[in-house]
Amino acid sequence: MTTALITGITGQDGLYLAELLLANGYDVHGIVRGQNNPKLELVRRVLPDVTVHTGDLTDLSSLMRAMRDSDPDEVYNLGAVSFVAYSWMNAQVTSDVTGLGVLNMLEAVRLHAGDDPAAVRYYQASSSEMFGKVQQVPQSEATLLWPRSPYGVAKVYGHYMTINYRESYGMHASSGILFNHESPRRGPEFVTRKVSQAVARIKLGLQDTLTMGNLDAQRDWGFAGDYVEAMWLMLQQPDGDDYVISTGETHSIRDLLDVAFAHVGIEDWSGLVEQDPRFMRPAEVDQLLGDSSKARSRLGWKPKVSFTELVQMMVDNDLTEQKVLAGL
Ligand code: GDP
Repeated sequence: MTTALITGITGQDGLYLAELLLANGYDVHGIVRGQNNPKLELVRRVLPDVTVHTGDLTDLSSLMRAMRDSDPDEVYNLGAVSFVAYSWMNAQVTSDVTGLGVLNMLEAVRLHAGDDPAAVRYYQASSSEMFGKVQQVPQSEATLLWPRSPYGVAKVYGHYMTINYRESYGMHASSGILFNHESPRRGPEFVTRKVSQAVARIKLGLQDTLTMGNLDAQRDWGFAGDYVEAMWLMLQQPDGDDYVISTGETHSIRDLLDVAFAHVGIEDWSGLVEQDPRFMRPAEVDQLLGDSSKARSRLGWKPKVSFTELVQMMVDNDLTEQKVLAGL
């Protein structure tokens, strides 16, 4: 039986990945942070077969203990402070967890693997936010990185440290440069879920308007369930490598609003959406568009869920959830 250890198992990607690995017959372990973490209950409910270890990406000895106790064949480092807007207000903690946390996890893997550094396969969750002020459209593995937020800078550190450990120690370490990926499990601080929740609430008469930031930014949005398959495929290759994972389609926040409102029968949302500088960022990533041809040819991966299907899935989920919450 193959054993996997996942950091960030309480998050959107961790939950989908754990489900995929369990379905593939894996013994799945996850690291959960903090005392009395409220998300622990979610993991136990959704994933009763996962073994939970207490640990923190800023605490190397806790990671080494989790490595010793789980003795994994594959490690997926998905844990991070992951909300870009928050990273300006908490730049140091973002750097510690999202950046230095990668070094800690790589060290824990290397020390545990001993004489055969490639024996434990390692996946690093890198991000399209590393492209930031994009130097090329579309963005590929070879595009110069130009991060635009403390989050993006921390992810660049983790990306290069992963490459460095692969080159320095011969580790089977892969970096997945994932473009934005969403689902009904996305946190409501992210724009897709914020919109799907608000559109559902407006449709149900529970909310009047929606307050947004920059409507002109463009993202290459895919479905998180499709993207975790790419993570797994990377670790099944003979060698570690870096791969862009994206749909190859870009849409603006306005397009997102169009699709979400249209799904509940509202064609003109102009009177329902307000803008507030509170939701604007000190530096913006204007347009992300990924070139995932390497992953498509080498991993045989491609996304299955389209942008429209993704947004509709999220709105449908929030309609159901909001009805229950409101007792409708
Ligand atoms: P990110 O790409 O990781 O930063 O993902 P987000 O979902 O947080 O943001 C995607 C884009 O939506 C960014 O360009 C934001 O500036 C833009 N955006 C516009 N209004 C909002 C908003 O109200 N909340 C969030 N989170 N993003 C917004």
